Amino acid sequence: MSNIVKGDSVIYLDNNATTRVAPEVVDVMLPLFSELYGNASSMHTFGGQMIRFVNEARANVANLLGAQPEEIIFTSCGTESDSTAVFSAVETQPEKRHFITTRVEHPAVIALGNLLEKRGYDVTWLGVDSKGRLDLDELARSIRKDTALVSIMFANNETGTVFPVDEIARIVKERGALLHVDAVQAVGKEAIDLSKTPIDFLALSGHKLHAPKGIGVLYVRKGTRFRPFLRGGHQERGRRAGTENVPYIVGLGKACELAGSSMAQERTQVAALRDKLEHGLLAAIPNAIVNGDVEHRLPNTSSIAFESVEGEAILLMLNEFGICASSGSACTSGSLEPSHVLRAMGVPFTYAHGSVRFSLSRYTTEAEIDRVLEVVPGVIKTLREISPFTRRG
Ligand code: PLP
Repeated sequence: MSNIVKGDSVIYLDNNATTRVAPEVVDVMLPLFSELYGNASSMHTFGGQMIRFVNEARANVANLLGAQPEEIIFTSCGTESDSTAVFSAVETQPEKRHFITTRVEHPAVIALGNLLEKRGYDVTWLGVDSKGRLDLDELARSIRKDTALVSIMFANNETGTVFPVDEIARIVKERGALLHVDAVQAVGKEAIDLSKTPIDFLALSGHKLHAPKGIGVLYVRKGTRFRPFLRGGHQERGRRAGTENVPYIVGLGKACELAGSSMAQERTQVAALRDKLEHGLLAAIPNAIVNGDVEHRLPNTSSIAFESVEGEAILLMLNEFGICASSGSACTSGSLEPSHVLRAMGVPFTYAHGSVRFSLSRYTTEAEIDRVLEVVPGVIKTLREISPFTRRG
């Protein structure tokens, strides 16, 4: 373990990639790995009692979302929830061959749009403006009688831009189509009330809100026609086969309970640190801009584009200082192409290449932000001095 870099030794500003599991979540999970290891589907009390834990967790998730417990299906991750929603909508309405989504979705949804296109569906890819905002009139005009599903994210994982989901839901429902919302980055950070907002499917992922990786939820509004994606046993009332992952389900339930009780206070605290970081960097570094819609943004996210530097080079140097950030979504970093999100926004090439996403959490401290403010200006200055893009003389 000597070469392993542990969380305590880094400044972790990559919380949109994944979050630390909350200690309270670890505590409730531990007994379920040791003395309480039964299978929730067993007839005997030792296993069968597990269903009580699963249903308590289901109630906690439902409570955070303003949903009914029966509308909550536990899955393995956000990606599975997105796939389940999209395939269910198209399979239950085979006569409808039109799908609407946006150019800035996570790959978990972009890939489904591409697949449907290959299968002969007509796919409308809604664009965004330079701040990452949708044109809601374009959305309204795009919905047709044969639209099987509209799939639009709640908040963008790269820029933090929050879409006007209430307005989107109103437009989609007025025109009689189904709506799926990928809320993986929003749950725990933004208030969501499904008793008021008419969304049909909603995806979330545990590891973005201080629960473990490998647990997700698909919300399916009561009365919505549904086809399971995983078939087999009768778990989750036949809607998602596979032995229940009781420890992770319980962990997610606890994470939702914590998010519900601390969200308002945490939003203020995290946004204040994010703003301190952002203002400090913009004041110290010339030719830097914020990507996305700063007025409608997740409280924890700041995506900053530094002109004439490579984002990957910035990340590598920050890594040397023990600072963890990201140059785009975790799935696209590693490629030197600017991300599809920044391209859709038309961020100029010399800026898009130098974009870094800082994403904070309830565990981020002011001392950490102060340290980042000390380090980053020097890193950008050094890289600009050696950059082939820099205009000299
Ligand atoms: N949707 C969004 C907006 C995301 O940010 C992510 C993960 O980064 C996913 C979906 C996929 O979630 P998971 O990693 O749980 O499959």
